[in-house]
Amino acid sequence: MSTYVSRFCDGDKDQKDLLGGKGANLAEMTNLDLPVPPGFTITTQACRAYMRDGHVPPELRVEVTLAVREIEDALGRRLGDFHEPLLVSVRSGAKFSMPGMMETVLNIGLNDASVKGLTEFSGDERFAWDSYRRLIQMFGKTVLGIDGDLFAEALDERKTAVGARSDVDLTAQDLRILVHTFKEIVVEQTGREFPQHPREQLDMAIEAVLDSWNTDRARLYRRRERIPHDLGTAVNVVSMVFGNLGETSGTGVCFTRDPATGESGVYGDYLPNAQGEDVVAGIRNTLPLSELELLDPVSYDALRQAMRRLETHYRDLCDIEFTIENGKLWLLQTRVGKRTAAAAFRIATALVDESLLTMDEAITRCSGDRLSQLLFPRFDPAAAKQLLTRAMPASPGAAVGEIVLDNAQALERTAAGARVVLVRRETNPDDLQGMIVADGVLTARGGKTSHAAVVARGMGTCAVVGAEELDVDVARGEVRVRGQVLRAGDTIAIDGATGEVFRGEVPVVDSPVMVYVADGLDAGLAAATDDEARALVTSVDRVLRHADAVRRMQVRTNADTAEDARRARDRGAQGVGLCRTEHQFLGERRTYVERLVLADDDASRQAALDALLPLQREDFVALLDAMDGLPTTIRLIDPPLHEFLPDRTELAVRVATAKEPDPQDVALLAAVERMHEQNPMLGLRGVRLGLVLPGLFAVQVRAVAEATVQLRAAGRDPRPEIMVPLVGSVRELQLVREEAERVLAEVGAESGTTLELPIGCMIELPRAALTAHRIAEEADFFSFGTNDLTQTTWGFSRDDVERAFFADYLQNGVLTISPFDTLDADGVGALVRAGAAGGRATKPGLHLGVCGEHGGDPESIHFFDQVGLDYVSCSPFRVPIARLEAGRAAV
Ligand code: PEP
Ligand code: MG
Repeated sequence: MSTYVSRFCDGDKDQKDLLGGKGANLAEMTNLDLPVPPGFTITTQACRAYMRDGHVPPELRVEVTLAVREIEDALGRRLGDFHEPLLVSVRSGAKFSMPGMMETVLNIGLNDASVKGLTEFSGDERFAWDSYRRLIQMFGKTVLGIDGDLFAEALDERKTAVGARSDVDLTAQDLRILVHTFKEIVVEQTGREFPQHPREQLDMAIEAVLDSWNTDRARLYRRRERIPHDLGTAVNVVSMVFGNLGETSGTGVCFTRDPATGESGVYGDYLPNAQGEDVVAGIRNTLPLSELELLDPVSYDALRQAMRRLETHYRDLCDIEFTIENGKLWLLQTRVGKRTAAAAFRIATALVDESLLTMDEAITRCSGDRLSQLLFPRFDPAAAKQLLTRAMPASPGAAVGEIVLDNAQALERTAAGARVVLVRRETNPDDLQGMIVADGVLTARGGKTSHAAVVARGMGTCAVVGAEELDVDVARGEVRVRGQVLRAGDTIAIDGATGEVFRGEVPVVDSPVMVYVADGLDAGLAAATDDEARALVTSVDRVLRHADAVRRMQVRTNADTAEDARRARDRGAQGVGLCRTEHQFLGERRTYVERLVLADDDASRQAALDALLPLQREDFVALLDAMDGLPTTIRLIDPPLHEFLPDRTELAVRVATAKEPDPQDVALLAAVERMHEQNPMLGLRGVRLGLVLPGLFAVQVRAVAEATVQLRAAGRDPRPEIMVPLVGSVRELQLVREEAERVLAEVGAESGTTLELPIGCMIELPRAALTAHRIAEEADFFSFGTNDLTQTTWGFSRDDVERAFFADYLQNGVLTISPFDTLDADGVGALVRAGAAGGRATKPGLHLGVCGEHGGDPESIHFFDQVGLDYVSCSPFRVPIARLEAGRAAV
């Protein structure tokens, strides 16, 4: 039994871990009796042993010998033979496709003797010498590490010397001379001859392919694609077949259906009398696959049958590389083919219509990430663009507009009909008005969970944050970036999917799928401009409806305003999972909170509270009305104080530089100094503020209660739930609960109704998760606040960390993705599990949800489903994505 080598006839498609994607599929095709050239796969286990020990395991040499001899016997050819030489290719093939990142060496087995055998066997001297020079060139560069330009230059010189326009014009004699020159380059560069022994060539090529797993570019690619570094690559050793033996030979690539649209049919390219490399290099123009039918109907039929067989077997779009050698078809590779987001949906439903998939399977073929790609307006990919800088993509979309630098400009220009992009150093609550009217937000500071990012995502406004190269000079009305100066009024374009910032106008294209999720099927179909777009809208609708039918978890939304709530409801939200009431005090209303926080006697505090009540009641009436009949979780205020107080430095400067400081400023500065915190995110927030500032929570609960009474009186069905933030101890919740119940009873008595509203809390501190069994005694529900839970579990400041050192952590592999984007299942996830288990140990039916940003992240949604949460809550824009992912998690 082999440890490190697997013959194609021994493996199958499910062994990608061991055989890599290419090897597993070659094995599968071999077992389907499809024509695959004989070969074997050196397993990823060998690569891992090689990486661990620094040398190839000794057993591998023996196993390779046995496997090569089997190929030789099967084909009746031998490596290095004078008459009928066997040549092999040595190809990398990892579990996850890493296109072009690792190495391949073709034509192993050619040397000064076997090149004559190849001439004899193929009857084509030119072909034989061309194959030999390709081997030395590829081997020299890949295995011996010689600068590839040296070979390319020698090739060019030869062409010039004989007046050849392209490689194919070189004769056998020219190529023989070139082989000689190439061999000299090898001696000059390495101090030794090009290895003539085929087995030495093979061993060196295998080692070079194993090494290519760890090249810089491969590592970089894996980091970006989140592929673990310790998987290792497999190496496929395959007997060579030749598509360049004349007009009855050729090579091509085909797809079983259109990878761009999903349409079924014959798609692909064919190049007669050529090798695979020629297709990739684009040296000659390919023919459409349909022309093969005229050139070689027998091979064409064989290929069509193989395509049908593979698509039926994989029940998915396959792409296939093939070669025809003297009229005989060989399949060199197949895989489930890459496709566009649109094709993913269309292929899934088409396969259902062809009775090849069930709807349950179809939804697993479409992901939330794919859906989100279909929702956002985007920049026309064909348009010319002038890149200014790159930063963090914080809220997707594509926005083009005039630069505005503050609220006043934003309001003025949009009132005049302009589209604007709000550009700020960072945003603070005062910028809300500007953010609302702007098409996009660009900041020089801040991370993905910074205020600007969270608010923009909530509103579905495109945002790019942390563009550190931007120097935003509001006083001079300009923005400087990389030596360029842009003024307010100049046009810029920001791409919330890539983080790119462009100068000038870039055309944006609309998405009918977006119209569909917002306004329904008829509107989506009407917005589609052609049959393909209509077919896509229909496919997305079928997939989403099925996801809704099968999912266990509900999907709610994070919405602070009636408008957001309505928008989310249109997109399928089944309630509000989080209304951040502090967001209702952004902008002009900020002073209400400021007055309350800074009040230094009971009378002024009461005045501030009295002023809050009607505003909040109005907010809640609107929100509950928009969510009529659906649960609406209203969170008591959780303002990190620094976001609501005037900037300490600015105020200090104003006081210090004024000839006669304004006494109000002086008093304010003293108060701000008093309240100043080094770590406001760990400071007087949430329940702590509620317990320290008497009357604050009570006024909010009263507003909820009065809004409920008012709506009930109007025949509506409001379903508010009151949620307490940042609880760490059951006692905190108990105190708030007592106060809330007292207020509810009071309002109930005043209005003659019963108000038994659910009161629950957020689980967003490690202590809360760890003592959840106690906290559950006082809670009617829990909602996991995974933003703060991530912040406090890792001890990462959510506002600073992406800027501060995430880049390094992603680089050195401590993190593979930001834990603020995708839940850290091992660490933060363990606390979510503990919190859920603790809560349900005390109250088995305890309702559990999540309202951190992770509630809209596909991978995290699967985790929450496993843990048994009842719902996820996410920004309105992400609701359809969460519906789909919750469905996928359930099947
Ligand atoms: C959280 O911490 O996950 C949460 C939802 O609350 P916020 O983001 O408002 O702190
Ligand atoms: Mg929080």
